[in-house]
Amino acid sequence: MSAKDYQKDYYKTLGVPKTSTAAEIKKAYRELARKWHPDANKGSTEAEERFKEITEAYNVLSDEKQRKEYDEQRSVFGRFGAPTAGRPGTPGAGGNFDFGDLFGGEGLGDVIGGIFRGGRPNPASRARRGADVETETTLPFGDSIDGVTVSLRLTGEGPCPVCAGTGAKTGTVPKVCPDCHGTGQQSRNLGGFGLSEPCKTCRGRGLVVEDPCAECSGSGRAMSSRTIQVRIPAGVADGQRIKIPGKGAPGEHAGKAGDLYVRVHVTADPVFGRTGDNLTVTVPVTMPELALGAEIKVPTHRGAAVTVRVPTGTPNGQVFRVPGRGVRRKDGTLGALLATVEVVVPQELNKKARSALEDLRIATADADPREELLRRARQG
Ligand SMILES: [Zn+2]
Ligand SMILES: [Zn+2]
Repeated sequence: MSAKDYQKDYYKTLGVPKTSTAAEIKKAYRELARKWHPDANKGSTEAEERFKEITEAYNVLSDEKQRKEYDEQRSVFGRFGAPTAGRPGTPGAGGNFDFGDLFGGEGLGDVIGGIFRGGRPNPASRARRGADVETETTLPFGDSIDGVTVSLRLTGEGPCPVCAGTGAKTGTVPKVCPDCHGTGQQSRNLGGFGLSEPCKTCRGRGLVVEDPCAECSGSGRAMSSRTIQVRIPAGVADGQRIKIPGKGAPGEHAGKAGDLYVRVHVTADPVFGRTGDNLTVTVPVTMPELALGAEIKVPTHRGAAVTVRVPTGTPNGQVFRVPGRGVRRKDGTLGALLATVEVVVPQELNKKARSALEDLRIATADADPREELLRRARQG
């Protein structure tokens, strides 16, 4: 019997009350079959349709087992509303017990959800988007510049895999709460006006579990974890939050999955730093290189060193811009590498170097580098 069959009123089709005996059903069917038999109504499509309907109804109601099942289904839908053509029941959950089958294509979770939200579920509004999930990851500096695929382990609460979220032991189903009759609410009369509060027996769930699932102790919820691969785009900065659409918690009732937000931490690099789209590097130079001019090698991020021409008389701390060696921007273009030259004072001098420096001191004795500073200080 398909889920659709439960929406048909077979008793009405045969014109008998629900309390009819098997004999009464048989009698009603015989009368109707005689009336609508195609042989007696040659060429009438209406008769043919009617004959099919009453035969279908009789086939179900004349079979004790099928009739019982049909009655149970009808009473469930009478309470919770008609079933919708939908997803199949949770496969593999609950052993041989198929919730999808029992509830005519709806998982038991749908029915519980309907009760929990207070009343009949509205199929159109039941689709629920999954929650957004936030996690974090730490990347080496180089990977943050180039982009990298990382494995993220996400832990979250979801339906218990053993009982498929029902909270009931395998092979059993929760019972409709006897105290609130499934509404999850209890009314208290307080001197003339009623107060509605969550049912104490079922704690507002509308269902009670007589035989709790051992895995989740009847809560129906369990922590689970999954590992997903996430592509971190090139150029991500420390502290940045990356949105990965559709990788959050799964939706319910065909709802869309939520989004995953990954907060990225970037470890410092011993060589390169970063300002905006530019990479920075400090390049040691000697005083003669700045004074006389030189060609110096500057390292680039994961590439060959580039040669930078330092002009004669370059001040210490001068920044040289190397285009195209920085951080990749969203539009695919690249920032620059900013190389700062910094004079290194030798800690040890060989004889020749010492002699040369002493000569230099004598040669430059007339040019006091502090003269300008002292003059300005006096003026101030
Ligand atoms: Zn209750
Ligand atoms: Zn469970």
